[in-house]
Amino acid sequence: MTDSLHLDKRQRAMLAEMGVRVWSPMSEAAAMGAPAVETLVVDTPASAPAEVMAKVEPTPILIQRPEGIDQMDWATLHTTVSSCQACTLCGSRKNTVFGVGVPTVEGQAPQADWLIVGEAPGENEDLQGEPFVGQAGKLLDNMLGAMKLSRHGARTDEGGGVYIANVLKCRPPGNRNPKPEEVAQCLPYLERQVALLKPKMILAMGRFAVQALLRDSQPDVETTPLGKLRGRVYQYQNVPVVVTYHPAYVLRNLPEKAKVWADLCLAMAHIRGNE
Ligand code: URA
Repeated sequence: MTDSLHLDKRQRAMLAEMGVRVWSPMSEAAAMGAPAVETLVVDTPASAPAEVMAKVEPTPILIQRPEGIDQMDWATLHTTVSSCQACTLCGSRKNTVFGVGVPTVEGQAPQADWLIVGEAPGENEDLQGEPFVGQAGKLLDNMLGAMKLSRHGARTDEGGGVYIANVLKCRPPGNRNPKPEEVAQCLPYLERQVALLKPKMILAMGRFAVQALLRDSQPDVETTPLGKLRGRVYQYQNVPVVVTYHPAYVLRNLPEKAKVWADLCLAMAHIRGNE
């Protein structure tokens, strides 16, 4: 598999780590009087038998995330995510899933008091390019309804407005857990979404959202059960964060619904300033 591009030293080092060789046909190019063009070569194990090699999925060529995500406006960020090839999930996704929520005014970030952060798109989300459209999404919509909010409802003078996004913007195959390197590649997009949205409250739903958002402020977050992290208000980029269970987990453990409702009440009280 080949592609042509110019690479700096850092990009070469990153590609080498991922097993991608950079081939520079200096002598051939010079001999033909043409400028040398560098080519990416993704190594395929030479020893694999032919029938195995035929079944091997082509390894996507990974391209480093562009610089300056932390300066991007909403539209540029969205376009950048749509074409992201910074981890191998780009090879299996049908769609990127940037997020959904209040209607946006052309070129501006949505005006939302609430940011809901989930884990990663599943099969339906991957097909539709929208987060939380499966069974877990129905439960999330019901939770929002109970809070007098909705996924597309505009922000009014009384507040409101919801935006829903995930830690990962692409579906992990077979809905497996996100890998740390995938989270590391994708997190700058969520960071920028938070910075542009400036919500009044983030609801972190499930272990992966909680770990991604709180790992800098809560050193024990990876080893602390989610149940023990509930019940208090944290901060991420100066935005209050309330931790709760993931709707998919609640669907499998219906008695936990009451705890989620308690978490939502905590978040609503905090936003109203009467916690
Ligand atoms: N679960 C998530 O965490 N996010 C989705 O978008 C769908 C299911």
